[in-house]
Amino acid sequence: KVSIFWFRRDLRLEDNHGLFKALGEGEHVLPLFIFDKNILDKLEDKTDARVEFIYDQISKIHGELGKKGSSLLIKYGDPESIYKELLQEYDIQAVYTNRDYEPYAKSRDEKVARLLNKQDIELHQYKDQLIFEPGEILNGSGEFYKVFTPFSKVWLSKLNPSMLEAFKPMHWKNLLQMEEFPLPTLKEIGFEKSDISIPSKTADEEIIAHYNETRDFPAKNGTSRLGIHLRFGTISIRQLASKAKELNATYLNELIWREFYMMILAFNPEVVDKAFKPAYDQIPWRNNEEEFAAWCEGKTGYPIVDAGMRELNATGYMHNRVRMVVASFLTKHLLIDWRWGEAYFAEKLLDFELASNNGGWQWAAGTGTDAQPYFRVFNPSSQQEKFDKNWKYIKKWIPEINSDKYPKPIVDHKFARQRAIDTYKSALNQ
Ligand code: FAD
Repeated sequence: KVSIFWFRRDLRLEDNHGLFKALGEGEHVLPLFIFDKNILDKLEDKTDARVEFIYDQISKIHGELGKKGSSLLIKYGDPESIYKELLQEYDIQAVYTNRDYEPYAKSRDEKVARLLNKQDIELHQYKDQLIFEPGEILNGSGEFYKVFTPFSKVWLSKLNPSMLEAFKPMHWKNLLQMEEFPLPTLKEIGFEKSDISIPSKTADEEIIAHYNETRDFPAKNGTSRLGIHLRFGTISIRQLASKAKELNATYLNELIWREFYMMILAFNPEVVDKAFKPAYDQIPWRNNEEEFAAWCEGKTGYPIVDAGMRELNATGYMHNRVRMVVASFLTKHLLIDWRWGEAYFAEKLLDFELASNNGGWQWAAGTGTDAQPYFRVFNPSSQQEKFDKNWKYIKKWIPEINSDKYPKPIVDHKFARQRAIDTYKSALNQ
């Protein structure tokens, strides 16, 4: 009999809750990873750097398990169908995994659990990617919080040091000993190498320690760039949150935002394509395609917006301050549906996280929880003045900024601001 440990968005061997349990409770643990066809088929760009990143992590894990006399079974396809095959090939005692809160993941896991349960096999799921998972932080009436600040207060008050301890030691002796399984090539799963590079997974303590002073300035190397590692679990949230607790409260607060948005998505899966505040679905977006293309390409004539979009296109990253500015500009200045911007970010961001991206977009559009009120419209020029006073960030991304090759503003700020306020106001008064 074997127990399977199924890796998903927890691509590390150390301090991995589900793997710790599998190794602690069962013998003959067979580690598994599935390249999920349902997800990969939707990616149009076959040089998507995130797939290469996952592939590289999987190769590393495969190699490390090989050194331990074991291996990683790597499959490609639809997870439910793969489990049907595995049930034929192996005598499975139990399947262990870490919980995932996204709508697609939940339905995938329900299907797999149902299939396994028919044969009296249990799918054991553990909390691994969050300190507090959806449902653990509720208000006095047992409901989820719609506003961040009280959520974060309760989060902090419930935190105790044992929650940040790593899961160890890992009982490696319980890995199934076997010949190595083959490692497919990236090409075999339908992808190619990308030329975008991935930020390091080492949490820079200097950056975290000074985070509250540096995080708002896009020209500085003042944020941790750990988003992609949190997304795919190549670092442990327990390890990072304990560093944050020791070094910088503002940084810890950002990790709480991450948990807040995951909680919002888990309780309100409909936000994926609807405004959190239903009245806001009445806004008559202009959705001008040419203007959208200018925004995507970084050619709006608003330097801070354009620099941000060019940074995103070139690197798969955009600084948080600038994400707020470009999202506000798209939804308010251009009155383009936040879902268009959200989808563009989803395609481009290395650190794309459904919950945070949706939360960030709905915040900027004013449609979400705890949102920016609609009558507050970011002024791109004053944002630039405050956060990139010396034009360092702008010049880096727009070398032609002072030449006549740089486009004129796509829309006048004052006019656009008033148009946004009027449009929102009349839509909401209906
Ligand atoms: P740091 O500033 O070093 O923060 C550390 C970590 O905290 C981040 O990696 C992230 O996991 C978390 N975090 C920080 N800020 C937030 C926040 N506001 N909400 C949720 N988590 C946060 N973040 C994503 O992880 N994925 C997304 O797809 C995403 N899309 C966004 C879209 C918009 C429109 C906006 C305004 C914000 C979005 N964010 C998203 C939040 C934030 O911009 C990024 O987490 C951050 O810029 C990533 O850079 P970093 O890793 O250097 O973060």
